[in-house]
Amino acid sequence: MKNSPDSTFLTALRCLRCGNEYAPTAIEYVCTCRPNQGSDLGTLDAQYDYAAIRQAITPATMATDRDRSIGHYWPLLPIANRQSLPPLAVGNTPLTAAKRLGETLGLTQLYLKDDGRNPSASFKDRASAIAVARAQMAKRTMIATASTGNAAAALAGQCAAAGQPNLIFVPKTAPPAKIAQLLVYGSTVLTIDGTYDQAFDLCQAACHEFGWYNRNTGYNHYMTEGKKTVSFEIAEQLGKRAPDAGIPGVSAPVFRAPDAVFVAVGDGCIIGGVHKGFKDLLALGWIEKMPRLYGVQSTESAALYNAWRAGLEIPEPVQATTRADSINVDAPRDAIKALNAVRQTNGAFIVVPDEEILAAILPLARLGAVFAEPAGATAYAGLVQAVREQLVKPDETIVVINTGSGLKDVNAAIHVAGGVTIIEPTLAAVKKHLRL
Ligand SMILES: *Cc1c(COP(=O)(O)O)cnc(C)c1O
Ligand SMILES: [Zn+2]
Repeated sequence: MKNSPDSTFLTALRCLRCGNEYAPTAIEYVCTCRPNQGSDLGTLDAQYDYAAIRQAITPATMATDRDRSIGHYWPLLPIANRQSLPPLAVGNTPLTAAKRLGETLGLTQLYLKDDGRNPSASFKDRASAIAVARAQMAKRTMIATASTGNAAAALAGQCAAAGQPNLIFVPKTAPPAKIAQLLVYGSTVLTIDGTYDQAFDLCQAACHEFGWYNRNTGYNHYMTEGKKTVSFEIAEQLGKRAPDAGIPGVSAPVFRAPDAVFVAVGDGCIIGGVHKGFKDLLALGWIEKMPRLYGVQSTESAALYNAWRAGLEIPEPVQATTRADSINVDAPRDAIKALNAVRQTNGAFIVVPDEEILAAILPLARLGAVFAEPAGATAYAGLVQAVREQLVKPDETIVVINTGSGLKDVNAAIHVAGGVTIIEPTLAAVKKHLRL
């Protein structure tokens, strides 16, 4: 199959429902086999020429590459070269060993991947960078997205960097910090008096009507391709931590897969991306095993958990009401990839109540030094539940991804951390307050 002219190693788009393959230039978003309604919009999966990629890059060449943004992995992305990406660097977020946090759960190899440390402070930068790159390669004048807030903030930032006009549909319930980001970056913002799911459907209709480039999660399969870069980073960062990794003349640089990864799930695009990233690395022969993937949802937004439990291919929509706004989704738009991610890796979906999600913010910050928004803390709350259910072993290598910064939703943070104490500006007041 011929490569796409605008992407060096992309060969085809394969439908995950019917198996049809398309040339990347022959189809823009979804396969014709999809039902008109329903939540399984995400059907296409980008295919690459792995043999050619293996010729172009190796773990050793990767080790000496100075570019540590997601451009570091450009041959595995649907772009022509690194310069296709907007100039606001995404990725290279820290993977830290969380010893003290791990000890409280009896885990010896717990790592936190803090994707709140992206330029717009959430995981969504990974996908939005690709959206802007693709839209600009196709010379599209307008990009639009629906978002619970973070995807939009990420798109706004990437568009500002690239000088790309963009239009955002967000529910009016999005936390003010996220809406502020959109306004400051100069996006056109349409705040919807309705839910995320309604914003999504409206964005679909508007893109169709006006010919805008559509970044919508699940619908635009290239978002998975951006999101998968987190797995490349995890494996490369873990590889560097091996005792003898990459010592010149002693051992070659390696990529290493963890045993399990925990991530919060709303539409299911992130967990599908995490799966894709490890699949790419397996196809290249750079890792030896697929980690088990655990998707964590709130009990108040559990459509994918329910579908997994019931053995369904397509989830039944729910009426989502979780306080973790980034995962508040009625009908998950990337259900097929999300269910595949869990089923094909022997992972699980896990649900946790909102109280446990909010409570998880504190140990993550106090023992792991990661300040997460509620949706980000959901992944850790899921790990706590998994330990209770003995889904993980004490010495397994476990990665918990924080998907969004705590600064995105300070009201939730203050709610769990407790209010502030106000004292008079006197030493006497200090003594009295501290009982000294
Ligand atoms: C979007 C988002 C999620 C969920 O990602 P999906 O792809 O919708 O499953 C989780 N956490 C944060 C902070 C997010 O912004
Ligand atoms: Zn199909």
